Amino acid sequence: MDMQRTFLDRLFESGLLIDTGVEGLYGRSGQFEDVISAFERLIDRFGGADGAEAIRFPPGMNRAYFEKSGYMKSFPQLAGTVHSFCGCELDHVSLLKCMEEGGDWTGEQKATDIVLTPAACYPLYPTVAKRGALPANGGLYDLQSYCFRHEPSNDPARQQLFRMREHVRMGTQADVTEFRQLWMERGVKMMAEVGLEVTIDIANDPFFGRAGKMLANNQRDQNLKFELLIPITSTTNPTACMSFNYHQDAFGLKWGLTFEDGSTAHTACVGFGLERIALALFHHHGLDVNDWPEKVRSALWT
Ligand code: ATP
Ligand code: ZN
Repeated sequence: MDMQRTFLDRLFESGLLIDTGVEGLYGRSGQFEDVISAFERLIDRFGGADGAEAIRFPPGMNRAYFEKSGYMKSFPQLAGTVHSFCGCELDHVSLLKCMEEGGDWTGEQKATDIVLTPAACYPLYPTVAKRGALPANGGLYDLQSYCFRHEPSNDPARQQLFRMREHVRMGTQADVTEFRQLWMERGVKMMAEVGLEVTIDIANDPFFGRAGKMLANNQRDQNLKFELLIPITSTTNPTACMSFNYHQDAFGLKWGLTFEDGSTAHTACVGFGLERIALALFHHHGLDVNDWPEKVRSALWT
């Protein structure tokens, strides 16, 4: 805990991260952003020739899609919804009065059609499903989005609004498992190029509640999720900086992702936690990029 505080304090002092008064919600300096841009170019160097279709969604998604995704069943504790004032002039008067008296004015806010995106790939599945049947060779997509997760923490690597860069593959079981394997190998090579030592381990998502434990065990037993771990704020608990998820045909069935012959597509996604990778680089090579090893600098900036 203490070590985490120290690294966060140093990040604030150096100006790389900017305190907003809320745990896990930070401004970022130009230098921090420059590292993220450079790392994203490295991702393109490794994966650009695959010809993925680039799509960028805003950090909010259609609430109806979110509801259908089942996110509230699995991760209600992490979700963020967007609410707004939808009242009349009289309601406005009582709102201002309540705020002035220091009361809880948020109770009257009404849910809008938008929720905060929990993972970059969530808006993709319904979007692709709407296009109709997938071609025989499936699909490959390149996404990046700010994502929200309600997990306030003073660990700078656990933020509430952070960016995920993802590649998503839809296809046959063989297509998507091969894709996931390829990115696990690429992930290790990429991190070696920027001087970061990693381990890859089996993982599970933080499913909610007692029923969630079973889902998490099931996910592990079936090798559905792997993470690439780098020590940042703790060496005993290294941080997941990439994840490699195989959804089997679960999203294919849910969203109706099918081939022309009617069979259901399998899907997999690989996600880079961009802030976590930048933090790993600052933690290992120092808070001033000018002092980073030449090998790392040239991997990122040439
Ligand atoms: P964790 O187990 O650490 O909570 P996760 O397994 O839930 O992470 P994923 O859902 O797989 O994470 O998200 C994809 C990637 O996004 C992760 O590999 C990680 O790099 C990044 N990420 C996830 N949660 C956060 C967060 N709170 N702050 C910063 N990055 C995050
Ligand atoms: Zn994903």
